[in-house]
Amino acid sequence: MINSTHPPFEEIDKPRSNCALVGVYGDTAASTLTYYGLHALQHRGQEATGIVSCTSASETHAASKLRIYKGPGLVTEVFSDQEILTDLLTGDVAIGHNRYSTTGSDNLENIQPFMVNYRDGQLAVAHNGNLTNTRSLRRELQDEGTIFQTSTDTEVFLHLTARSKASTPEDRIMDALNSVRGAYSLVMMHGDTLIAARDPHGFRPLCLGRRGDAWVVASETCALDIMQAEYVRDVAPGEVLFFDRRMDRNGEPVQRWLTHQPEQYHHCIFEYIYFSRPDSRIFEENVDKIRRRLGKALAEESPVQGDEDDPVFIMSVPDSSNTAAVGFVRSSVKQGIDARYEIGLIRNHYIGRTFIQPGQEKREVKVRMKFNTVKGVIEGRKVVIIDDSIVRGTTSRLLINLIREANPREIHVRISSPPIVSGCPYGMDFPDREALIAHQNGGDVEKIREEIGADTLAYLSVDKLLSTVSHEGKRGYCTGCFTGKYPVPVEENMRKDEHET
Ligand code: SF4
Repeated sequence: MINSTHPPFEEIDKPRSNCALVGVYGDTAASTLTYYGLHALQHRGQEATGIVSCTSASETHAASKLRIYKGPGLVTEVFSDQEILTDLLTGDVAIGHNRYSTTGSDNLENIQPFMVNYRDGQLAVAHNGNLTNTRSLRRELQDEGTIFQTSTDTEVFLHLTARSKASTPEDRIMDALNSVRGAYSLVMMHGDTLIAARDPHGFRPLCLGRRGDAWVVASETCALDIMQAEYVRDVAPGEVLFFDRRMDRNGEPVQRWLTHQPEQYHHCIFEYIYFSRPDSRIFEENVDKIRRRLGKALAEESPVQGDEDDPVFIMSVPDSSNTAAVGFVRSSVKQGIDARYEIGLIRNHYIGRTFIQPGQEKREVKVRMKFNTVKGVIEGRKVVIIDDSIVRGTTSRLLINLIREANPREIHVRISSPPIVSGCPYGMDFPDREALIAHQNGGDVEKIREEIGADTLAYLSVDKLLSTVSHEGKRGYCTGCFTGKYPVPVEENMRKDEHET
């Protein structure tokens, strides 16, 4: 484990993403592949990373002990020495995790995967999402004598598995998974068995791929691409897959199902809006395609007309809104609007520390470090700024100030999601509700417009948002942060730090 600490990567005024998972079974380069997968999924967690590996049993050898390496920092920093992957994390089975936490981020003991020895051998787990019954489960386990070493939900899985009275390790894992509620995708290793599971509502994505004879699981398909694995399908909500020696018979993982099957799934719709990479396929749809549809839907609901002989210039807030902006332009043109896609904002990807001068606001310095305007594009123009969401609103206000310095004629802001009025109990980190600009203004868009200083402001409606995604079969979506209606009840008064991932 390395000891250095890395200043957390910080998206400005965006909900922070949760965690990334990777699992590999049956490839002698399992840990190196996991490293590449985690690197592709760096956007889902930048605070810490870790990998556990194992050499599986063969005709002549027993499985090796699990090997682990983890630490704070980005994937390339923690695994900067190739020998960690080639000499330490050897074997053909591996799991990995990138971590972003809601609280306690500097607690090294909270870095995943977690690994324990118990009566059936060694167990390692990595988890993405938040449980909603952590408080009662922890209390029950503590009453029975369990001592917790971390503040994470993930440790609950380990204790529930270890304390289960079921007769086989597989049944003990099923017991543990059937006891928890809320949002989780997870990868586990029980000795040389790889386990992949997704909660029955399917809040968080998890996909399955093949790389020759090997199997791969990952939070998003962009990780499969870098591992040169072929996408097979999503791990289904409520499905638990066991990759082990039994696969010698037909090559397929052993499949089991969790008991609590809801009538409808509740995929996190924010994964489409902002969290997932546009080159990924999640919930059986391409993120890029959905984001274009969001932009198109937004232009249908709230178009901005050009003036005579003067086109309207449409710009995205890079990078997460680029695709929605393309959809917005196409739909505007289809409506007969003289609209052009322009690159008027440039994003600097390398934001380091900020040094604040007297009278300066830290967030303003960050916005200026992160964005700059292309003045020749903006000056004298009617511009439309496409953004995926507004959280506190302070960054939007500062960004609009910055754009005004380039002397546009008008600034129109269009948001490819509904107003965020509430937090997320299922693993995304939003600020407290009181800090949300939409909550502060009771959802009044005109008041929000005044606060951020735009000439006009419009959000996508919840209905229109839902019209952009498929509703085939059991497919449904969580829209809790936009509606305040949450599909899985959360234990009352549960604090953020009680379900840290
Ligand atoms: S509350 Fe929002 S961010 Fe959380 S799972 Fe639901 S849609 Fe996703």
